[in-house]
Amino acid sequence: MKLANRALNISPSQTLAIDSEAKALLARGVDVISFGAGEPDFDTPDYIKEAAVAAIWAGKTKYTPVAGILPLREAICRKLEFDQGLKYKPEQIVVSAGAKHSLYNAMQVLVQEGDEVILPAPYWVSYLEQIKLAGATPRIINTREENGFKLTPAELEKAINPRTRLLILNSPSNPTGVVYTGDDLKSLHDVILKYDFSILSDEIYECFIYNGLKHVSIASLSPELKGRTVVINGVSKAYSMTGWRIGYAAAETPVAKAMANLQSHSTSNPTSIAQEACVAALNGDKCVLKQMMVEYSRRRNVMLERLAGIPGITCIKPGGSFYAFPNVSAYFGRFYQGKQINCATDLAAVLLEEAHVAVVPGVAFGNDDYFRLSYVCSMEKINEGLDRISDLLGKLK
Ligand code: PMP
Ligand code: GLU
Repeated sequence: MKLANRALNISPSQTLAIDSEAKALLARGVDVISFGAGEPDFDTPDYIKEAAVAAIWAGKTKYTPVAGILPLREAICRKLEFDQGLKYKPEQIVVSAGAKHSLYNAMQVLVQEGDEVILPAPYWVSYLEQIKLAGATPRIINTREENGFKLTPAELEKAINPRTRLLILNSPSNPTGVVYTGDDLKSLHDVILKYDFSILSDEIYECFIYNGLKHVSIASLSPELKGRTVVINGVSKAYSMTGWRIGYAAAETPVAKAMANLQSHSTSNPTSIAQEACVAALNGDKCVLKQMMVEYSRRRNVMLERLAGIPGITCIKPGGSFYAFPNVSAYFGRFYQGKQINCATDLAAVLLEEAHVAVVPGVAFGNDDYFRLSYVCSMEKINEGLDRISDLLGKLK
């Protein structure tokens, strides 16, 4: 059977592929330590599960409005206003099957053939494919480690041309952990306002912020920018709800309407039961989140300390998310048992085969001098995994 070019040109998600590989090895009894997928290891809090069970017994098991039930969209509006000072009406919110789905919908309604989308690299793997799926062309800006991987106003301005329709921003970032401060965003804002394109602001890691930094949404900088921004967020990471598949977008009414129309012909509403659980999550006590963040912060410190102790590795201190993104290029050109290591993909393969440690090579994020380690596992596993990485690197000749 012939496949459409759209299908032929798409690469599978490497983050999910590595996660599946690590899980399959574990199931076969191999003692794998996975720093692969960004999936929190905490269980979904009980009060959220209870709300889902109650929803089933209350018969909330039917189609809902495509964009999500009103109590959930109201809860999202309250959250955005409370946390970011962003005022939206429920009709400006579209709830989807995960933030990935929200991003997909946004990309489909905002860009098309002939358009360019500015994508700062390193970038999260799915942005690139979603841009291509929408028929648009990615315009990648390679941000630099010495700048903490922050996009500078000059780099942004250089990439803008008459075809530019969209800029993707992801703060805190996957995979680098970079957090844009209010001042960083303000300097980008001043460039953006000189031109006419939209912003897709993926804020899914907003809760994962360390060292007293604060999450700022670019949409909160001015009413004009808010009008040009689609804010993306969700509950997968913050509430350990990856499997429930709920994400959301907040945008001007015509954009939200277009996204809901698109969704009405694909998935219809996201799962009714998961939506009810999310109302409980968003309206619930934030104490549970705070406890999880304390633990992530401890893990981050240990991971960064351990990485700093490995000769040849450099790693920026990420201000947010739950990833470290070390530069491992000092090891390129060396050999492991006759096999030459020329990029992070080669190194990740040897690490998995020989040391049974799963990491995601930077090629998935647009720069294969690095690999990504997620610290969503126990402290014991972090230490054991870093011991194994350090031993293996020490054996390269
Ligand atoms: N954006 C980023 C940057 C992510 O890392 C992820 C991880 N899955 C998503 C969006 C999608 O999250 P969800 O599980 O809600 O689809
Ligand atoms: N976002 C997570 C990651 O980057 C989960 C996997 C995915 O959705 O691609 O690992």
